[in-house]
Amino acid sequence: MIKRFEEMVIGNVMFPATSALYNRKRILPLYRQFKASEFYPPERLEEMQLEKLRKLVCYAYHQIPFYKKHFDEAGIQPGDIRNTSDLKNLPAVTRQDVIDHHHDMVDNRFRSSALRADAAGRAAGAPILLAPLRKDRLVRNTSSGSTGAPTTFYEDGARTAMNWAHELRLRNWYGIPPGAREARMARVSVEYLKNSKDVLMRRLLWNQLALPGVNLGEEDFSICYESLEKFRPRVLWGFTSALTGLAAYIREAGLDAEVVRPELIITWAAPMYEHEERILKEVFECHVTNIYGAREVGHIAARCPDETLHINEENLLLEVEPGEDLKENGGGEILVTTLDTTIMPFIRYRMGDIGKVSPSRCSCGRSLAVLEDLLGRTGEIFVTQSGRMISPNFWCRTFMNPDLGGKIERFQVVYRPEDTILIRIVKGTGFTKETEEGLRRHLQNNFKGSVTPLFEYRDEIQARISGKYEMVVNETQS
Ligand SMILES: [Zn+2]
Repeated sequence: MIKRFEEMVIGNVMFPATSALYNRKRILPLYRQFKASEFYPPERLEEMQLEKLRKLVCYAYHQIPFYKKHFDEAGIQPGDIRNTSDLKNLPAVTRQDVIDHHHDMVDNRFRSSALRADAAGRAAGAPILLAPLRKDRLVRNTSSGSTGAPTTFYEDGARTAMNWAHELRLRNWYGIPPGAREARMARVSVEYLKNSKDVLMRRLLWNQLALPGVNLGEEDFSICYESLEKFRPRVLWGFTSALTGLAAYIREAGLDAEVVRPELIITWAAPMYEHEERILKEVFECHVTNIYGAREVGHIAARCPDETLHINEENLLLEVEPGEDLKENGGGEILVTTLDTTIMPFIRYRMGDIGKVSPSRCSCGRSLAVLEDLLGRTGEIFVTQSGRMISPNFWCRTFMNPDLGGKIERFQVVYRPEDTILIRIVKGTGFTKETEEGLRRHLQNNFKGSVTPLFEYRDEIQARISGKYEMVVNETQS
């Protein structure tokens, strides 16, 4: 009873009111709107998208120097975009465009604010308190991407508000109301958490516990576990790698998962592979969902209880550019257009991910379009010379096979030119010559001899500097 009251007050009063102080306005109205629009007939959603798109291209052409030039060079006027398919005539915007032209991609009227945000020296993405009362209220943010070259982008709080509203909707799909306790394994270190006032504010006003989520060692996992035991969140949120790391820590240390058991786990920032989902479900015994998105454009899609990834069509137009290599499969690279007229919109932004929009709708009854076969980063997909596509999930299935239990401690797959695949293995107990033979046969059966597997045995496989372990390395693309 007390808990419900706490959730109601925080969810409906404290959270929206204090978010507005950071210029993240209209979270609850947006959330209510999303709860209705997810059931709109598809035609109505399409109509809504088209209306926003027409406004957006007009706005971008007249207010944003980059898009004026981009449209002019393509010989397209805003009036030429009469339906969503007309957008295909406009070349896609790449990460490199954002790296090279980010100041020109901001609404002209906010350009000087963007320059002042650069000079302010705040941490990337740090919100600005009392932003609505300030003249310079742009938040500067960066995204490192998988390639390591950072992009810079700006927002005035509107995109974050939209993300929050989408998150509330996702939680609602699993029966969790606004204001419910949530723990987040975030992009911050233990030291930051100890000294930050922001953390205390989130805890008291938003019912949100911040935990470290990058470069985690055993000591950090132990801190996370103890904090979760005290806080008892209904939702546990974090990078897939951080959450699976925590699950593995709990399992290996023989700790009781019952005392930290949330009702819902939300993973984001990377596709969730089958073996990752399995360990989360086994250890935490709760619902597990995934948000697909990017810092620049916000949350793109989220997975419903029927395990379908629904696109946030109210704010985004998602296109799939058919890939030469992927014709058979019907998939291609994902391009995203942010439909709202925010100060730095993205039109046909190349995500670097491979996916496919399903022609059918989900059995849960929500009409939002379905993103299927989200196979991962373009760099993680390997297409053999005979046109066969290998996704990271193939390797998950291969190496998580119960027959291999305990025989392989860690693996890494390296794609090399001329269809050579190097498989690095840290042997576990029980690994024998037959294990390698079995793997070799499995690969030959699957690739019909078109691929040459090489095996390399190591004492360890290093994670990257970010702490993220790379399951697949594609050397054919570097
Ligand atoms: Zn669904």
